[in-house]
Amino acid sequence: MAAILTMLGRRGALTVDSLPRGLDPITGQKPSESCAVVGFHGRTQAFPVIYSALRTLQHRGQENSGVATHDGQKIELLKVDGHVFEGFKPHIEKGDYPKGKIGIGHNRYSTEGLKNITGAGPYLVNTSAGQIAVAHNGEITNFRELREELKEKGVPFFTTTDTEVMVNLLAREIKERGLLTGLRNAMSILKGSYSVTMMIDDKLYAIRDPLGFKPLIIGKIWDGMMVASESSAIDVLGGSVIRDVEPGEVVEMDSEGFRTILKVPSERKAHCMFEWVYFARPDSIIDNVEVYNSRYHLGLELAREAPASGDIVIPVPDSGRTQASGFAEGSGIPYAEGLFKNRYSERTFIMPNQKERDEAVRIKLNPIRSVISGKRIVLVDDTIVRGTTTRRIVGLLRKAGAKEVHVRVASPKIIAPCYFGIDMKTRDQFIALNRNDEEIAAEIGADSVAYLSMDGLTKSIGKSKHELCLGCLTGKYPVKVKDEIEYFQKTLE
Ligand code: SF4
Repeated sequence: MAAILTMLGRRGALTVDSLPRGLDPITGQKPSESCAVVGFHGRTQAFPVIYSALRTLQHRGQENSGVATHDGQKIELLKVDGHVFEGFKPHIEKGDYPKGKIGIGHNRYSTEGLKNITGAGPYLVNTSAGQIAVAHNGEITNFRELREELKEKGVPFFTTTDTEVMVNLLAREIKERGLLTGLRNAMSILKGSYSVTMMIDDKLYAIRDPLGFKPLIIGKIWDGMMVASESSAIDVLGGSVIRDVEPGEVVEMDSEGFRTILKVPSERKAHCMFEWVYFARPDSIIDNVEVYNSRYHLGLELAREAPASGDIVIPVPDSGRTQASGFAEGSGIPYAEGLFKNRYSERTFIMPNQKERDEAVRIKLNPIRSVISGKRIVLVDDTIVRGTTTRRIVGLLRKAGAKEVHVRVASPKIIAPCYFGIDMKTRDQFIALNRNDEEIAAEIGADSVAYLSMDGLTKSIGKSKHELCLGCLTGKYPVKVKDEIEYFQKTLE
């Protein structure tokens, strides 16, 4: 522990205790991201960099984490349950963590397969072509067929995850065809979304699927090169961001630099719009667009498209804050903090029943009466999935004396599941499906509800419809999801 703190301190980075926790206590009602990935190739230990980056990216996955490094002879792997800080703490204190100079790391929020530590990344397989370790953000849509095919050929599986299928497929292709042809072949077989950091023995690679669903960015840091899901992980450690891994690109990295070793072309891109709307940290820059700036413009655009008669604009904290400040600017209605959020109550999402969830929202969010009482409130949120939290918040505002509550949502209606790594799998959970604005307002107890248009969304992000995945907003997916309807039914069952 002391050694790690010294290492971080000496290099002017954050200390362990000052690193952000990255949790949104009301994520129980928000879609969840599936993972964060990190890779580092340096001249000293990789673990301190990867550990700190995983802490910075804690918002992308809180179930479990893992770090794999190559110690000069073999890949060492450590996986822990829960949050990065608590999970690794006992290992750091005992000095019991992977010590290699080259490594990859992973934070997991499972959308497929086991939720316990057995399903945690990185995944490691031993092959005659070397040890292969993979950390994966995304979701492979054809993994069930691939799993059956690999099983028939004698590949043993220890989990039910798509990542285990991916790493075994990569291992088979690389072993049989060599690195480049093997990777090219694997990328033509794998469908869905994958931003990956991979080690083959002591070589480090970053891979992004041809549509670029999930972010992946390269930077220079300390004595080496880093790749991470978000630029903030590089910034926070005092590094300099270089560029995104391009869709379809495979990059080889060492402590001196990086080079493209493969580029798989694609006619379009499909960056997940939710990165800018909700998932990514506002201080991250993804595919050359700053998340904060796009969120501010989502609010500005919403004010133009869906004005509301109100006395104050208040955000749903924290996720609607930037959009609410844009709405206030665009509408000329003053911005106020009308809801206090208790940052220290966490994990509402594991509470099993409605009553407990209701109580948890009250503990987490409390209206500030002097701000709310007697006012017409414009409540701005980034998105609404089920609407249950919004209904509770509207109720809280009314109890605190709000005269009117107008809900404005800074993204279009979510009406369809996501098959690319976000935890929204069943249509019946969406409040906006088959309901118009008036019906939604009645459902959540608001005086009015309005959403941002699709054009408003793309304009605010600054990317065209052919560069974004809008699948959960339109039901039309950039990749054909085989047996989508049956898959959806099975998920429901
Ligand atoms: S379907 Fe929605 S959540 Fe899933 S990748 Fe596409 S835009 Fe993102």
